[in-house]
Amino acid sequence: LLDPRPTTSTTTTTCGYCGVGCTLDVHVRDGEVAAVTPTRGAPVNRGHACVKGRFAHGFTRAEDRLTTPLVRRDGRLVPTTWDDAVRTVAHRLAAVRDRHGPDAIAMISSARATNEENYLAQKFVRTVIGTNNVDNCSRLCHAPSATGLSASFGLAGGTNPLDDLDHTDCVLLVGANPTDAHPVVGARIKQRVLAGARLVVVDPRRTELAALADVHLQAVPGSNVAVFNGLAHVLITEDHLDHDFLDRRTTGFDALAELVRDYPPDTTAEIAGVRAADLVAAARLFGQARHPAIVYGLGVTEHRHGTDGVRTLANLALLRGAVGTPGCCGILPLRGQNNVQGASDMGALPDLLPGYQPVTDAAVRDRFSAAWGRPVPERPGLRIPQMFDAAIAGEVRAIHVIGENVVQSDPNAEHVRAALRACDLVVCHDVFPSRTAEHADVVLPAASFLEKDGTFVNFDRRFQRVRPAVSPPGGAASDFAVLHRIAHALGADLGCPTPADALAECAALTPVFAGLSHQRLDAGGPLHWPCRAPDQPGEAVLHLDRFATPDGRAALAALPHLPPGEQPDGEFPYLLITGRRLEHHNTGSMTRRTPNAELLPAEALEIHPTDAAHLRVVDGADVTVTSRWGRAALTAHLTRDVVPGQVFAAFHFPGATVNDLTSPHTDTATGCPEYKVTAVQVRPGPP
Ligand code: SF4
Repeated sequence: LLDPRPTTSTTTTTCGYCGVGCTLDVHVRDGEVAAVTPTRGAPVNRGHACVKGRFAHGFTRAEDRLTTPLVRRDGRLVPTTWDDAVRTVAHRLAAVRDRHGPDAIAMISSARATNEENYLAQKFVRTVIGTNNVDNCSRLCHAPSATGLSASFGLAGGTNPLDDLDHTDCVLLVGANPTDAHPVVGARIKQRVLAGARLVVVDPRRTELAALADVHLQAVPGSNVAVFNGLAHVLITEDHLDHDFLDRRTTGFDALAELVRDYPPDTTAEIAGVRAADLVAAARLFGQARHPAIVYGLGVTEHRHGTDGVRTLANLALLRGAVGTPGCCGILPLRGQNNVQGASDMGALPDLLPGYQPVTDAAVRDRFSAAWGRPVPERPGLRIPQMFDAAIAGEVRAIHVIGENVVQSDPNAEHVRAALRACDLVVCHDVFPSRTAEHADVVLPAASFLEKDGTFVNFDRRFQRVRPAVSPPGGAASDFAVLHRIAHALGADLGCPTPADALAECAALTPVFAGLSHQRLDAGGPLHWPCRAPDQPGEAVLHLDRFATPDGRAALAALPHLPPGEQPDGEFPYLLITGRRLEHHNTGSMTRRTPNAELLPAEALEIHPTDAAHLRVVDGADVTVTSRWGRAALTAHLTRDVVPGQVFAAFHFPGATVNDLTSPHTDTATGCPEYKVTAVQVRPGPP
């Protein structure tokens, strides 16, 4: 603590930035956050934290923090009272519902909100509004993980705890840059490599960990399935297989072996733009390891065939018996935002109730309907991209957004803006004015994670407590309290008056969460789900006895490589990849209002020097990037971290609107946008 004056309180809570879920001690002086330090001995971060968790807390008292509800009158957002704002939202939601039916209303819940808020949000939509039109931003990142891992293993979560990386002798890191996006995990992988573990990286960019790797497969974006099938080909032809495991615990080997005959190293190398010898070397490192681990990120999921990517990556773990066996290291999907796992776990999904229980299952619906006292609708609702399409088509007339900045974070931003413009009502809960709030009819000032009570679930399925360190400023309020108020104004009672009550109600209705409660987490610390009874410790390692599939076996997937939604061509000759930077989080609304903004004040387009020379662009020069979907102004950053023909930028800054460029192509199975492949042209100079 740099200020020598004593702090008055310290609260232990969970970081609200990335999905690693570090435990932090928040030190408060005079009612304001004075400093944040990583909690010693915390199970996830073991006393470490990154530049976001430690230093990006000053936003809580930023001058432009929303502290008063705003209502649009005569075209302008003007301050109003909470009573008026809540009455306006309720009155206008009821008007849309009465006139167009409940399916004309859609809610986007939030990966930044607590589990209890997400539980309440989906309960509000299903029981008070009467539709399943609720989704969360996992749709934009790891929906393919939920669907793919469920199809392969039967459960929608990573299979092993982070600590299992401590005994891996080979990490296969795919489509992830944890040094920037999940720094505490990045450091853990680096430590393991420095201790002698082998590292294979599949990533189009030369990241810090790629530079450390034994093999770096710089595969062209969109070729993941071919790469994984090619690796499977080598594992099978060179017999790096766990035959006993495959016989006893899997199905589908023969079909997979047949399919991957078409992916010999030369063929795969040509599709992926890598060297065949490197592909074989990578397969041998993974195949000969005793405890191989797979860690992956959005470079696997955010593709037109992202779910196929997850499933064909899961094949590699199964071929080696590296999942569901004692001592294995399994598969760890690196979840993006702090509670993106929890938002889905809590049922903020259009087809699934809490714990991934299908709304189409009559017995499940009956159980929830009986407990909630109102019928759960049967028909699955709309996914986020479908909500925007339906708004433009006039079928959705009201969109209620909790804590997401969809105009900046979702692809094809002009399409999103058009959808919001087409609505009769747009409601936003947020901590700051945002590009999305510019389109809102009502803006409700939200509490931040440092001001909330509840739980988050991190990337390795750990429920962790979130505790308020400070009070929200002015009239800002938790989404939990706001949802209750809107429900009351609509004549409904959501029950569960406190966050602890909400988790208790969720646990009573959801077998895989049955053993979870705030009391237990307060007394004993974090717990992994599944946690099926109050006396069970939680299952950190999944699938040890049987997989959660109907037949108890994991399903190998024989899936061919298919091309991405669009490819570079003569008009749009460069391939744009989007991603994240160390200093900032998501759309940057919090981190840009902290000293982290001085560390990285603006976004730049990474471009290879060869391409820059061809375009006559120097480092720091203005460039205009154009896709079929929009245009963005950036400055050029010359680097050999990208290969010629590819460019990279992040989406943290509202001025450099990378998502004005990204395409509407989505994963065929889940609707997850293809953020990792957009064909663009780059021109020198401003637009
Ligand atoms: Fe930990 Fe992620 Fe927070 Fe950094 S941003 S402190 S890695 S949870």
